[in-house]
Order: sequence, then structure tokens, then C-alpha cells
Amino acid sequence: MPGPYDLGRADLAALLHDEPAYRVEQVWRGLYEQGRRPAEMTNLPGPLRERLESALPPALRLVTESVSEGRKTVKWLWALSDGAQVETVLMHYPERATVCVSSQAGCAMGCTFCATGQAGFTRQLSAGEIVEQVVAARRAAAPSRLSNVVFMGMGEPLANYDRVWAAIVRLHDDLGLSARHLTVSTVGVVPGIRRLATEALPVNLAVSLHAANDRLRNSLVPLNRRYPLGLLLEACRQYLTAKGRRLSFEWALIAGVNDRPADAEELADLVRPLGAHVNLIPLNPTPGYPVRGTSAGGVRHFRDQLTALGVNATVRRNRGTDIDAACGQLAARAGALAIASGR
Ligand code: SAH
Ligand code: SF4
Repeated sequence: MPGPYDLGRADLAALLHDEPAYRVEQVWRGLYEQGRRPAEMTNLPGPLRERLESALPPALRLVTESVSEGRKTVKWLWALSDGAQVETVLMHYPERATVCVSSQAGCAMGCTFCATGQAGFTRQLSAGEIVEQVVAARRAAAPSRLSNVVFMGMGEPLANYDRVWAAIVRLHDDLGLSARHLTVSTVGVVPGIRRLATEALPVNLAVSLHAANDRLRNSLVPLNRRYPLGLLLEACRQYLTAKGRRLSFEWALIAGVNDRPADAEELADLVRPLGAHVNLIPLNPTPGYPVRGTSAGGVRHFRDQLTALGVNATVRRNRGTDIDAACGQLAARAGALAIASGR
């Protein structure tokens, strides 16, 4: 069953065919401007509210909420209408709030070090299921303004291109979020990057690199065998030329694997011509990958090496590790169990 945020205005009009025409706009605003569910739309007559509440139940049902670091990071585990589970993470910063959304239940890309990858793929999320995560986060963030959305939760957004793009258009057109504040993170789905370069909205592109030679990258990111670095970087260049937006590369620092001086040099050679930014993330431990993340001192040292080599690099703080809300830790473990047991 599609959720309320899967409907277009025409679908809503069809649902409200026996009501005065202005109701469509009222309900649309209730959903997008106020982020309300029909039962809370007090400007509608009671019977209509009830009818809409049963016709348009939320697509996300809260299973658990985890809160960390003085409420700075909040993680929600949601059950979808078919029982599949996904997670959303809200991060509060002094001036704004950012939400990290899931684009798929699970992920088929199988990156060795990622908890979502280790759990495998369940299904694609609909555009409405993605938008509803943002609406829920915006409500929870108030009075702070939710300004940024990053597609860095569960799943590979460019392996669910059409629905992700439909969600981005909704976030921009109907939730009023600026394209500059929307970031799509990909492990390197080259046709998806090429397609993104042709879209009208200039969203930010983050590419999860982790290795700057094909031998190492093949062992960390299986998709690299299909789209090796040469092809990936060519697609990045194309995106840069088309959009003129800053490109960023994600690099999860893994002790003894990709944190050596030679790795910094190799990475710098690859990044400098693109003028890209590097985000360093110390690897988060996951059950299926018995290698440690680089120490905090090692991470700073790697950053300093990159800086000395003329590369713009920052260390991303690992928010929410205590509630398993950090990058690569989203696995909806309870969800996997529920599906396995057929509930
Ligand atoms: N599939 C997309 C987006 C979701 S993953 C992608 O891979 O880009 C979001 C980010 O978390 C990616 O940069 C990914 O490489 C990173 N990540 C995955 N597992 C991690 C781990 N164990 N520690 C740190 N970062 C991790
Ligand atoms: Fe999927 Fe991204 Fe995890 Fe790789 S890192 S398995 S692409 S979610």
C-alpha cells in the first residue's frame, strides 16, 4: 500500500473527488508544510479526517527510538507496511539539523566493512517512504530547522534511482529544501552518476572511495570490479563539469589497510585534479569485518598528510556510535530477524 507521501496531487484529488476542490490543497499543505497526519489536520471536518486517516496511514511505524550524546543524535528504527525495517538518523548541530535517510531496506552492494552490506538486500524504498523519513525528522528537529538531507543511511541510492530522484524533487518542491543541501552518497554506480549529471537540480555528490587503486578497492567494494576507478573518476569529472558543485570523497580509515603514507599519496594524486574534498571517517566496527578502525591520532595524521599534499580534508566525527547510528552501522538487526521468522 502506498503511503501518504507516495500520492501526487492528482491521486489526492481522486481520493477527495466528492469534496470541495480546495480540500486537496488543504490536505497537501497539512502533509508537506505542517508534516501532519490526517488525524491531526484540525482544519478538516471530523468525518473526513477519519476517512483520510484510514485511507492514508503513515508508511513508517516506529519500532524503536535510540537517543545519544545529550539528544544530539537520534536514531529511529521503522517498520514499513510489509514488515521490512529501515533506519533514519537525525543529527543536531548548533545552527541546523541534518537527517541521514535510508534509500533501500538493506543493500545489495556487499561492501565488506559495512553492516548494511553484510545484512544483504531486502527491497527498494518508495519515494514516499523516503520523504516520510524527512518529514518525521523535521518534526522531531523543531524548533531547530531541518536544512540538510544526506542519503547515507541504509542502501545505495543510485541503485534505486527513479524513486530516490522522485523523493529529491518532492523534498525540493514541496518541503522547500535547497538542492545545495541535499547530498547523494554513492559507492560508485557509474550510470547513476552520469544520469545525475543530466538532472535539473544540482544536488551534492559524495562518492565512497576508500581505496585509490583498483586492487585494494576490489577487495573492499565489490562493485569496483564492474566500475573500476578509471570509469568512476571519469563520471565524477562529468558531474563536476555539468553541475559545478563541489565533489566529496568518503574515506573510511581502516587500520593498516588504507591509512598508510602511500595511501595518502595515492589518494592525493587522484583527488587534486578534481579539486574534490575528502571526508575521513574512522571505520566503525561491524560484526562481519574483523579489522579495526584507525586510531584518533592516526586519523589526524592522515588528514595532515593530505593537507600537506594540497588536498582539502576534514575528519567527520562519528556521531551516534553508542547507539549504532554511525555510518555503516545501520543494519536493522531486529528487522532481519522479523523477516527471517516470517512475522
Ligand atoms: N551506499 C551509499 C550510501 C550509504 S553508506 C554509499 O556507500 O556511499 C554511507 C557511508 O557510510 C558511505 O560512505 C560508506 O562507505 C560508509 N560506511 C559504511 N560502512 C562503514 C563503517 N563500518 N565505518 C565507517 N563508514 C562506513
Ligand atoms: Fe551498500 Fe553503501 Fe554499505 Fe556499500 S557502504 S554495502 S553501498 S550501504
